[in-house]
Amino acid sequence: MRFSGRNALVTGAAGGIGAVLVERLRAEGARVAVADRDVRGIEADAHLPGDLLDPAYADGLAPAAREALGGLDVLVNNAGVITRGPVPDTSDADWSLSVGVNVEAPFRLCRAAIPLMAAGGGGAIVNVSSCWGGKAPGPNHALYCMTKAAIASLTQCMGMDHAEQGVRVNAVCPNEVNTPMLRSGFARRGFDPDTAVAELGRTVPLGRIAEPADVVDVALFLASDDARYVCGALVEINGGKAVA
Ligand code: NAD
Repeated sequence: MRFSGRNALVTGAAGGIGAVLVERLRAEGARVAVADRDVRGIEADAHLPGDLLDPAYADGLAPAAREALGGLDVLVNNAGVITRGPVPDTSDADWSLSVGVNVEAPFRLCRAAIPLMAAGGGGAIVNVSSCWGGKAPGPNHALYCMTKAAIASLTQCMGMDHAEQGVRVNAVCPNEVNTPMLRSGFARRGFDPDTAVAELGRTVPLGRIAEPADVVDVALFLASDDARYVCGALVEINGGKAVA
């Protein structure tokens, strides 16, 4: 029960990783506010639906979670979108979407949450970057890699800047995870998601791609007091499949 008495806000709570984050945080005693475009049907202690591309919604989420839960100790900036392709194939809409959801929204959430957490005696923020942002980019996903590198860099900066306020900021950097984000990409490109996931698993030294729980366990470690001396870390979760 590492999160007993703690209050947490999770974005992207309806997604593959988000749903498991919410489940595990609650199982370990946290009261959890869930944010996503549609949060109906998610078991949680507060429901804060909305579009992270709306600056007023993103700015207001952390205070709304604190209000609804009675405090804010943990924030997981998990929501994300992936756009594919090299720069010449990238539209203005791709740019606005990727930067808006993957960088601007977590920036807005952190900006609002850090003073609230500091005033409440401290807290922990976990950002969900990617191995393509934490260490090195992969091919044909220029915008996605750029946004994940941006949130990784912001994490390192905030990890330094806010440690003295008792606010620890860290990020997880997963390689491929078996979620709707990955599976819908396969389906869009005409592949059977189960077959593609199995084939991808054979390229991983551990023999499979990650399941959401593999990422969540590391994120919860970073959010918990077990990681009390960890600030600004980018933790790769890759099953041994290093990015070049
Ligand atoms: P997912 O698509 O299952 O979940 C993403 C969630 O974010 C969705 O529920 C979606 O509704 C929400 N979201 C997107 N845009 C939003 C908006 N404008 N407003 C509110 N909510 C919005 O994907 P996932 O794989 O669970 O991704 C979670 C995080 O993990 C993302 O940040 C992603 O980039 C990162 N990640 C995923 C993988 C992978 O292979 N799946 C690998 C590395 C990193």
